[in-house]
Amino acid sequence: MSKLSAAEWKKEVIREEEIEKYLISGRDFIDEEQIKGELAGGRQPDKKQVRDIMQKSLAIERLEPAETAALLQVTDPSLWEEMRQTGLEIKRKVYDNRIVFFAPLYCSNLCVNNCAYCGFKCENNQEKRRILTMNEVRQETEAVISEGHKRLIMVYGEHQQSDVDYMIESIKTAYDVKKKSKNGWGNIRRINVNAAPMSIANLKKLREAGLGTYQVFQETYDRKTYGRVHPANTLKGNYRWRLYALHRAMDAGIDDVAVGALFGLHDWRFEVMGLLHHTMDLERQFGIGPHTISFPRLMPASDSPISKDSPYLVNDADFLKLVTVLRLSVPYTGMIVTARESAEMRRKAILCGCTQTDASTKIGIGGYTDALKKLEEFQETNQKEDEQQFMLGDTRSLDEVVRELAEMGMITSFCTAGYRCGRTGDKIMGMLKHCVEGKFCKLNAVLTYREFLEDYASAEMKKAGEKIIQKEIEEIQKQPYFQKNKELMNTFWREYEQIRKGERDIYI
Ligand code: SAM
Ligand code: SF4
Repeated sequence: MSKLSAAEWKKEVIREEEIEKYLISGRDFIDEEQIKGELAGGRQPDKKQVRDIMQKSLAIERLEPAETAALLQVTDPSLWEEMRQTGLEIKRKVYDNRIVFFAPLYCSNLCVNNCAYCGFKCENNQEKRRILTMNEVRQETEAVISEGHKRLIMVYGEHQQSDVDYMIESIKTAYDVKKKSKNGWGNIRRINVNAAPMSIANLKKLREAGLGTYQVFQETYDRKTYGRVHPANTLKGNYRWRLYALHRAMDAGIDDVAVGALFGLHDWRFEVMGLLHHTMDLERQFGIGPHTISFPRLMPASDSPISKDSPYLVNDADFLKLVTVLRLSVPYTGMIVTARESAEMRRKAILCGCTQTDASTKIGIGGYTDALKKLEEFQETNQKEDEQQFMLGDTRSLDEVVRELAEMGMITSFCTAGYRCGRTGDKIMGMLKHCVEGKFCKLNAVLTYREFLEDYASAEMKKAGEKIIQKEIEEIQKQPYFQKNKELMNTFWREYEQIRKGERDIYI
């Protein structure tokens, strides 16, 4: 926690020189007029044009703005269905039938900003404010591990009490938790962070503390809208400080960064183009784009009229279109659909080619521990608007969602081995573009799934899970790559048996 007064701390946050160094001839990479022009130029592509563009996506090449704009203008429903199927095919090509799961852990809802759409905004007097102590971080982590999670995204409001030192302490605390399970033990193996933009020096400290991916959503790429929802006298009111948050992270040596836009504040087609330009600028300046793209939809939040009546709220049909176009435009990047969406919409988004999702999610501060207590006392565990950032669409447990995916023929991967073996940043992106990362992932997904089945799965889950793990193993045995690689397969089988006997956290 910072020893500075609130006013002093605020003055320290933004560093103009860490914005200016990324400008291109004094200009930002987002130019609203240019994007509007691109969108206008993309009117009514014919089927052949769209299919040619899809061939490029299938070759795992990023699309240009004109191509993305063309896809955004498609009106024919059968062509949209073709695009969705191609998106799913791309996802399978790059990520096979794996879905990665994570759990958000909200550490603090103290916030100096006043974002019009967020329940944590400083002027929301209905919100109960709380910052977790380290003991509470430990309890929350234990509760999340008990569900079977191995990956966290830690979330913080922007405040002097939850400054970088607090983040580091909470990350280290969560990494240190080891919890007994049915047949072994569990721990958190990767921690990502969603937090306000920071200086390069602070980002370096986060990296040294073991940060995985650093995620910052631009919310909206349209400056006027940005100004309307983020008061100018707040830290978040500085559009440019946020626009280059991930550039600074790259400079700090964090090579897994995650972009996102909050859909519902401005025209969804415009935001898709904004995300593409953001990706392109990271690629241009650092040779590597974002690790994941998020596209949260605005959800109802307390004391936030705009979260309920924004004229730009995105309907379900358009939401699936935007997911489809993003999948085709940046074919090698991970895509995250969250529990903000209903069970049905999550399912549909996954069938457009998403790669990551969360489950058993609680977004109140101390939410996991509170829910456990309430369960023990047979009390209601319904969501409460004044205790969380916004309302969730899907509150099902990890067990239920993993089972649903198994029934859809998908395997959940709890694997974090890639990062721990140095397969991050440009290395992993290169492997993804050439579809080779999948070889390691396929084996590690089976190993971590085995752990989940041994330690956390309900009887119903186990039934569905054993089937999918069997299918995966059969596929592995059939693949020439694995048949040739006898040593790798020996290691795999040895580790698989070790896990059955209670050993944990072993990977290839
Ligand atoms: N305070 C940090 C910041 O603003 O960057 C990080 C944490 S904030 C809690 C995480 C994200 O939640 C925001 O970037 C925003 O996109 C999203 N969010 C805020 N209000 C929301 C709402 N009503 N519905 C859906 N997502 C929301
Ligand atoms: Fe604070 Fe982030 Fe919510 Fe804005 S979105 S009020 S910065 S927690």
